Amino acid sequence: MDCSICQQTGAFYFREYEGIAFCHQCFKKNFENRVHRTISRYHMLDHDHHIAVALSGGKDSITLLRILRKIEKRFPKSRITAVTVDEGIEGYRDEAINIAEDQCSELGIDHKIISFKQIYGHTLDDLVSKKKLSFPCSYCGVLRRKAINLIAREIEADKIATAHNMDDEIQTYMLNVFHGDVLRISRSEPSLEDPSGMFLPRVKPLAESPEKEVVLYAYSTGIRFQTVPCPYATTALRNDIRIMLNRLEARHGGTKFTIYRSVERLRDLLKRSKSPFTLQRCRSCGEPTPSEVCEACRLLQEIDA
Ligand code: SF4
Ligand code: ZN
Ligand code: ZN
Repeated sequence: MDCSICQQTGAFYFREYEGIAFCHQCFKKNFENRVHRTISRYHMLDHDHHIAVALSGGKDSITLLRILRKIEKRFPKSRITAVTVDEGIEGYRDEAINIAEDQCSELGIDHKIISFKQIYGHTLDDLVSKKKLSFPCSYCGVLRRKAINLIAREIEADKIATAHNMDDEIQTYMLNVFHGDVLRISRSEPSLEDPSGMFLPRVKPLAESPEKEVVLYAYSTGIRFQTVPCPYATTALRNDIRIMLNRLEARHGGTKFTIYRSVERLRDLLKRSKSPFTLQRCRSCGEPTPSEVCEACRLLQEIDA
């Protein structure tokens, strides 16, 4: 089969939901154009922004870093700093940090690393083994979000860019539904600003790119990324949701896009109907939070109890 775009080269990927076949070159261009469209659609970046890119060393974050680097070159007043959180997961995070460091030095990007141990006094492994946590991901996600906020503010970034792809976004939506936390759907947008200025704005330029295509892009460009999965990943409900959605997509192509668009509509409705979200300072650590104590402090207090 020939590439449907250039009609000159053999295709390596057939995008079923649009009926288009791509050669490597045309796919890479199409993928990057989609990321650019997402950035413009949600007004994610300005020409003079200092962006903190959350870099884990996996395919998504390295893909994001490389695409943002290309964009940044066109805007001399903008700046990127990569930020990596070391949760302290033996045999997993060390390799990812090495890869992240290599990528940053290849691209000439400043790189900051912050660890759970430095901020919270424990590695994730410590917490899991000492406190017998059954679902480490619930703790890891909250503690990592706070760590990224802290380091992004320390380097005086204007925005945080994270590499959540479309599959991540849909899984988060389903998780919120399963946890009965429907209002949270309105706060998990691809571009999230906080009018009070207490939280740094967060953007997700890969939010409209399916995970499968992020993998194809990473392989097509020869990007080196971490392939070993986190040892705790299988304990997460998110993992079961991922498997379920992949099965649905395989049997009914386009399901993920339909869910993504439905969530967008739902989010608009929720935003119109709910009262505005007010933030205050956590009475324990001073970070912004909708409740008296932030989620990270609440979880750590629960562990210490
Ligand atoms: Fe943390 Fe879970 Fe991700 Fe592992 S899979 S890095 S424990 S959130
Ligand atoms: Zn082509
Ligand atoms: Zn707190």
